[in-house]
Amino acid sequence: MPKLGFVQVEVSTRCQLSCLMCPKSCFSDEWIAKDMNMETFRLIPFKKFHYAHLQGWGEPLLNPNIGEMVDIAAKSCKVGLTTNGLLIDHHIDSILKLDLLAVSVASGDARQHERVRGCSLEKLAGNIKLVSESRGKRPKIVIATMMLKSTIESLPKLIDFAAECGADEVIANNLDYIPSKELVGEEVFGLTADKDVEKAVEQAGKRAEELGIGFIAKPRLMEEALVCAENPVENCVVAVDGRIAPCAYLNLPTASETIPRWFRGRTVEVPKVYFSSFKEWLKSDFRDTFKRRLQVLHQSLPTELPPLPQPCRTCYKAYSV
Ligand code: SF4
Repeated sequence: MPKLGFVQVEVSTRCQLSCLMCPKSCFSDEWIAKDMNMETFRLIPFKKFHYAHLQGWGEPLLNPNIGEMVDIAAKSCKVGLTTNGLLIDHHIDSILKLDLLAVSVASGDARQHERVRGCSLEKLAGNIKLVSESRGKRPKIVIATMMLKSTIESLPKLIDFAAECGADEVIANNLDYIPSKELVGEEVFGLTADKDVEKAVEQAGKRAEELGIGFIAKPRLMEEALVCAENPVENCVVAVDGRIAPCAYLNLPTASETIPRWFRGRTVEVPKVYFSSFKEWLKSDFRDTFKRRLQVLHQSLPTELPPLPQPCRTCYKAYSV
């Protein structure tokens, strides 16, 4: 069997922050905060994948075994993680072994960043610079941000921040999972384009070109995709307890068996989706549905598109954003 895409590994569900848009902040009463143990981690078949991303709903650098985890995964595939950046200086030796380091930053404006993420932008800048000034060929440094209505204006400023820190790229993601009613209206995507949002994205793109760094902004117009960007045909998540999920959006470390979502003006509860083994995931109807949707691309005659799996119908990722 050819290698699969990526395995996302939820090495910790703990986090020292409580960011505005994070489900941990919204579901704090029922959040199960723990670290993945080494026994579970060692069972992951990294050889089957091109890439391992050591991050789930939590801060990976809080797992006391993160250094050993990076070493184990790096023997079989490329490795990266996304961090809130606060502990980079404590783990610099392991960070320098990564292929990809993504640091979450809410805004290039210090006050906006602190409002959304509750931590200092200055501290992050120091830690990102530490990596860019100490690295050889790796890791690639990516600033990962979330486009919100209340911060989008400062997106061009984030490009300057990234360049000053020595980062290679900025990725602007969407608020594609809305866990609470209070966040409705913060999303920048929809059925029509928003002029102010498009202007900020365009300006950020121009600034990135001027400064010679990469810039990717996720689409803002909703349109049903054959397969979402998480692509559960090629990729999967290993949850903190070792269960396999098709994506992070169907895995949440809460006591409940369902996941609340706000989707197009209403709240819905979708069941969590887990498989007990990689074999079970590979053979699942869930994965097969997306495989059959992708096959439509190779049909010469018009073919009926299999409907999205039920839990995906109310997931914004299924609509390309
Ligand atoms: S559409 Fe959403 S819920 Fe379905 S696999 Fe993709 S990310 Fe997961």
